[in-house]
Amino acid sequence: MRASELGINDIGIAVDTGPVPPDDRIDALTEAAYRRALEHAEGSVADYIPILAAVDPEGFGICVADVNGGVHEVGDTRLTFSIQSISKAFVYALLCDTVGHEAVFDMVGVNNTGLAFNSVVAIELNDGHPMNPMVNAGALATTALMPGGGAAEKWDAVRTGLSRFAGRELRVDEEVYRSEAATNHRNRAIAQLLESYGRIQTDPLDVVDVYTKQCALLVDAHDLAVMASTLADGGVNPVTGEKVVSAEVCRDTLAVMAASGLYERSGEWLFEIGLPGKSGVAGGLITVAPGKVGIGAYAPRLDSAGNSVRGQVATAYLSRALGLNIFASDSHFSGRTNE
Ligand code: GLU
Repeated sequence: MRASELGINDIGIAVDTGPVPPDDRIDALTEAAYRRALEHAEGSVADYIPILAAVDPEGFGICVADVNGGVHEVGDTRLTFSIQSISKAFVYALLCDTVGHEAVFDMVGVNNTGLAFNSVVAIELNDGHPMNPMVNAGALATTALMPGGGAAEKWDAVRTGLSRFAGRELRVDEEVYRSEAATNHRNRAIAQLLESYGRIQTDPLDVVDVYTKQCALLVDAHDLAVMASTLADGGVNPVTGEKVVSAEVCRDTLAVMAASGLYERSGEWLFEIGLPGKSGVAGGLITVAPGKVGIGAYAPRLDSAGNSVRGQVATAYLSRALGLNIFASDSHFSGRTNE
């Protein structure tokens, strides 16, 4: 979505303002972001996973979790939904934390494909390379590499790892899991294609099963904000104080999210909002302002690329109003010369 569509042209220059403002100011801006986004009823809910089509399209919550442990939330922030593709960012972080930056760089990659998240053509065009962890090929390769000899151990590593990011035990929405498991033929094809290229060296259908469960983990906007704030806080969950991954892993994960987090609209998002983000087809959206805040949003009406419309509008406002855009600067020229 463009700045004009996002309604942020009246907010003025977005400059990194240093530490986040006091709690009452963040509360007020979160409320304002919610109100602005509420006016947007465009977009439609996902239906390619049959059960997702049955969701209430009006559910909407926005939550900001700062690195000091403060949580600011408005709307349906405790309404649960399946995490879907947002899980990809956190499983990637867990894998990098276990096997290291270099190995994951080679095996999964970091470059944008320019094609849909579930593209088979992208795999063929790149000689079987999954390209990046935010598309399904890369996410399946990532899940396949998680520690553990079999599917049960890998699933345990995924579920407990994501729960540490959230600061509570996450559980699977069985209905969503079953609905996707019955219809995920394309993901099975992608996993088998990766196996044929030697990119998955364990049972590809087991990998798809773990991935499908990971996508069906239930979260709310509050959880997403806390998970995002852990990536903003050098890998320490600011609410529980637990160190989940290293600061280096957060840096790597945020770079990948910035490049590919919002499907084919990732460039547009970075251009307008200036922050790493990741969306999922159930309507969740996370955004990370490093060293400052994590933002979690939920609103199931999506744009044509699969990104929550209200989530984008509310986050765009917060990026501007809180001065979060990582590319924005103001002149600090003080007359000093190099002589
Ligand atoms: N489970 C979904 C799939 O693999 C995730 C889609 C998404 O959120 O982008 O198709």
